[in-house]
Amino acid sequence: MKLSPWDTIEVKDYSKLFDEFGIQPMFPVFSESYLFRRGIVFGHRDFDKFLEARESGQRVSVLTGIMPSGPMHLGHKMVVDQCVLYQDKGVQTRVLVADVEAMATRGIPEEQARDLAVNEYLLNWVALGLDLKKSDVYAQSNRSVPYYRLAALLSGRVTNAEMTAIYGDLSPAKTVSSLLQSSDILHPQLKEYDGPHNVLVPVGVDQDPHLRLTRGFADKLGLIKPSSTYHRFMSGLDGGKMSSSRPGSYIALNDSTKEALRKVDNALTGGRDTAAEQRKKGGQPERCMVYELLTYHFMPEDKELARIHADCKSGKMLCGECKKILKDRLGAFMDDLRKKREKARPKVKKFTEEMFTC
Ligand code: SF4
Repeated sequence: MKLSPWDTIEVKDYSKLFDEFGIQPMFPVFSESYLFRRGIVFGHRDFDKFLEARESGQRVSVLTGIMPSGPMHLGHKMVVDQCVLYQDKGVQTRVLVADVEAMATRGIPEEQARDLAVNEYLLNWVALGLDLKKSDVYAQSNRSVPYYRLAALLSGRVTNAEMTAIYGDLSPAKTVSSLLQSSDILHPQLKEYDGPHNVLVPVGVDQDPHLRLTRGFADKLGLIKPSSTYHRFMSGLDGGKMSSSRPGSYIALNDSTKEALRKVDNALTGGRDTAAEQRKKGGQPERCMVYELLTYHFMPEDKELARIHADCKSGKMLCGECKKILKDRLGAFMDDLRKKREKARPKVKKFTEEMFTC
């Protein structure tokens, strides 16, 4: 299996990640969050050490990134939900805007990267609960001298063979981006920031190569190795991989409510060819995108989700009824999110004008 931060990947068997990459299975924690309760956050590296440090009163922080290269969709929302969970627990949260990486590796012009960062991502992050006053949100293009000095220093602490072992073949742009990502994760431990402490990075598992590289650097520099957690990927609405080149495969947070509901109408379900057949054989929630959306985002109540699963399997519930439950919740969510975005707009505009001032 190949993990790459730059290619769309699909994981068919998550248990292979434990054997092949040394990721640890997640243990029971944060039962108030359905992302943890349901095993959507399925794996970690040294998450126990992060929790121990926090519980013993040591400084800890959380850092994650925004890649401003396409629409923000429901798949991205899972990281926001986790960051808001930590923020509500009083953990310092850092969010980096990877605008330099977007320019270097994806050819996104600077102005476009900044526009996407603000209008696709940060507005939605704030609408979903990120408190800008409690967070350190920054753009790679405008971080400090110590941050860039660290990235340059890291370039001398790794060989081409080590980079290739982790990432496979790398272009110069991807090499620079990897070093910047490592500096993103490690620079909070510099004396100019908060000094050595445990930094947790909640990400999709495609980002694990950056964590492996960075943990190696931490060892070499005598810093504390970052911890990480990994969440599952959502499938595309058509049952394939989610891809920004196929807008029908995802629900973007900036979609109109009407468009989002239309996408649910067209989503692949695990229903049978006819109502009679479904009543007789039952549906297949395990291959149903409607059920996945309920599980990952729109049905935090475990009992109600279990009821839908049972009623689907027994043939008692048909897909029309099930889609209506999802559409009612999704429609309310999209309407509410739009209002919160508009409310947040002046604050985010002012904040990001300062953030991007070079
Ligand atoms: S009844 Fe619901 S969960 Fe079952 S296949 Fe249909 S849409 Fe999916």
